[in-house]
Amino acid sequence: AKDGGRNGFRYFTPALQEVAQTRMRLANDLHDALPGHQLEVHYQPIVHLASGTVRKAEALLRWHHPSRGMVSPAQFIPIAESTGLIRDIGEWVFQQAMAQVAHWRAVHDPGFNISINKSPVQFRLGVRAHAWPEQLHQRGLPGDCMTVEITEGLLLDASPEVSQQLAQMRQAGMHVAMDDFGTGYSSLSYLHRHPIDILKIDQAFVRDLGPGSPTLALCKAIIRMAHELGMQVVAEGVETPTQRDLLAEAGCDYGQGYLFARPMPAEVLDGWLRERQS
Ligand code: C2E
Ligand code: CA
Ligand code: CA
Ligand code: CA
Repeated sequence: AKDGGRNGFRYFTPALQEVAQTRMRLANDLHDALPGHQLEVHYQPIVHLASGTVRKAEALLRWHHPSRGMVSPAQFIPIAESTGLIRDIGEWVFQQAMAQVAHWRAVHDPGFNISINKSPVQFRLGVRAHAWPEQLHQRGLPGDCMTVEITEGLLLDASPEVSQQLAQMRQAGMHVAMDDFGTGYSSLSYLHRHPIDILKIDQAFVRDLGPGSPTLALCKAIIRMAHELGMQVVAEGVETPTQRDLLAEAGCDYGQGYLFARPMPAEVLDGWLRERQS
């Protein structure tokens, strides 16, 4: 940059500067998102591959920004984390999901289960007073109506507090799923050291799935290993019938992806579930 030396932005390209500015504005706007009712939880069905049954869904956060339109969670979750806003937002998502799972258990399937994403930052900010198992109990809901999706990074440097929170949720009957499996630190040693019920194969593996493709061998190996460890397997990002069929043949338990349905508002999934049932 021409005037670089003067303001210390010598190595800052205009594009980078813009990214930083957008981030700052979003961080500012994110404070209004929850009080301004700009957040919404969408739900994506998780399909049992052998039977086609749907009794699980993943909660995915959406932000309707007043001027930018829909902002992706991939963009705003990191900001929510660095500002600490993730704490209130995460609790709100949990409240929404609790109400929703109670509804779907009443009208759709008494065994319905909702998956919630919980980032390592959320575990660190967690306080006992807001413990999820207690909230479920207070509402008269069994623990097994909820799955908590964690990432490999959480277990890499799991503090005693994190281990305790995981154990608490597990004792209450909640399920624990390892999200984005295969993309993280690729150390498998945590798999038997921590209580995990479900492995979610990352969509990167599913995307390249074809007959005889190397990723098919990987998926098969992951599925076999998971089953031998007593875990169930969900494949993420299933977009084609070929992918679904190969996964089902490989013994994968569940599939999630645009082939079945996109994430959608609760009322829309309500109708979708009713239609599928009849
Ligand atoms: P994730 O947990 O891995 O969620 C799966 C992502 O894949 C979602 O993106 C979903 O919309 C997308 N997806 C589903 N099916 C397909 C498919 O067939 N093809 C493709 N290409 N994508 C598919 P989304 O909703 O944009 O969320 C992005 C990430 O943001 C999530 O990744 C999760 O890490 C995070 N996130 C979303 N909601 C929450 C939340 O409430 N709390 C926390 N802590 N993180 C959240
Ligand atoms: Ca997830
Ligand atoms: Ca994932
Ligand atoms: Ca992800």
